[in-house]
Amino acid sequence: SLSIGIVGLPNVGKSTLFNALTKNDVLAANYPFATIEPNVGVVGVPDPRLDKLAEIFNSERKLPATVDFVDIAGIVRGASEGEGLGNKFLANIRESDAICQVIRAFSDPDVVHVDGKVSPKDDIETINTELILADLQTIEKVLPRLQKEARLKKDVAPTLAAVEQAKTVLESGQTVFAAGLDPAPLRELHLLTAKPFLYVFNVDEDELGDEDFKNGLRELVAPAEAIFLNAKIESELIELDDEEALELLQSMGQEEPGLATLARVGFDTLGLQTYLTAGPKEARAWTIRKGATAPEAAGVIHTDFQRGFIKAEVISYDDLVSLGSVAEARAKGKARMEGKDYVMQDGDVVEFRFNV
Ligand code: GDP
Repeated sequence: SLSIGIVGLPNVGKSTLFNALTKNDVLAANYPFATIEPNVGVVGVPDPRLDKLAEIFNSERKLPATVDFVDIAGIVRGASEGEGLGNKFLANIRESDAICQVIRAFSDPDVVHVDGKVSPKDDIETINTELILADLQTIEKVLPRLQKEARLKKDVAPTLAAVEQAKTVLESGQTVFAAGLDPAPLRELHLLTAKPFLYVFNVDEDELGDEDFKNGLRELVAPAEAIFLNAKIESELIELDDEEALELLQSMGQEEPGLATLARVGFDTLGLQTYLTAGPKEARAWTIRKGATAPEAAGVIHTDFQRGFIKAEVISYDDLVSLGSVAEARAKGKARMEGKDYVMQDGDVVEFRFNV
């Protein structure tokens, strides 16, 4: 499955955040025999629709979609020069499908900052510089070959042009993602900065509700998504029951735990969406890429479902909830039979028909 790598300078709250994420691990909660990797946190994407479906179908359990977060230790200045830890760091990022930068915005004088001052802008630049330098090295390596090939083969020209454009962008200090370049012709280079980015700002408690402060930080990272949380509080929230947690959050001007926002935004950043299934055993959200067709969606449940796909019976979540049952939805003509070209929509409640 797709994963998001968590990176950041030392002492910004990564471990605190990651511990909170792993305590929230849905694998551990739902699959007692699953192998849990120490540096991977599998987090459920909050989905109130599952509660409603479980009610309608009298489901025994609810299974949300999940996002894998990987703790990538060891960003250091000079990582791109490929010294020891630096190499491992870059290799781990290369394997991630998106990059989540944790940035310190909390002021606590008792927590030392590696550069002696709290400056989100400088920290973002420090990290981006390492990633940009690594990408420039990658480009320098392939460029001579591409230039030679382009002289012999016409179809290499678009790739060469895209790589040259990426080089210009990187040399100006911008990431490929922030510049909005088309990642498709660059895919074979596996550039780090072509991956989607999101930012977690670890902020002081009294800044969680400060919109001006947050907007200033948002501007630093736009068009990437910014999430604001206090890692220490997130790790404490895990220990509370839902009601107490909500009360604490609301007292700080937050509507949901930062981890929940992070899971949702992370899921979206990866280009994923869900469809739903429900029955007496479980109400479940399944993960597909945006734009997936009905047979591809069926394949997520089982490859046999995709191979033997006949039709999908689709009811939109809103119709199902307002009509109260599948039988009612069918009677009112709200259950659609969709074929193999159907593109799945968010909130589709589905039952697949297939040959085995
Ligand atoms: P890492 O090096 O990025 O993994 O950072 P840690 O999670 O180990 O945190 C470094 C220090 O900062 C620890 O002493 C944490 O208790 C503290 N810390 C983490 N998050 C916060 C926060 O939101 N507010 C404050 N005041 N301290 C924090």
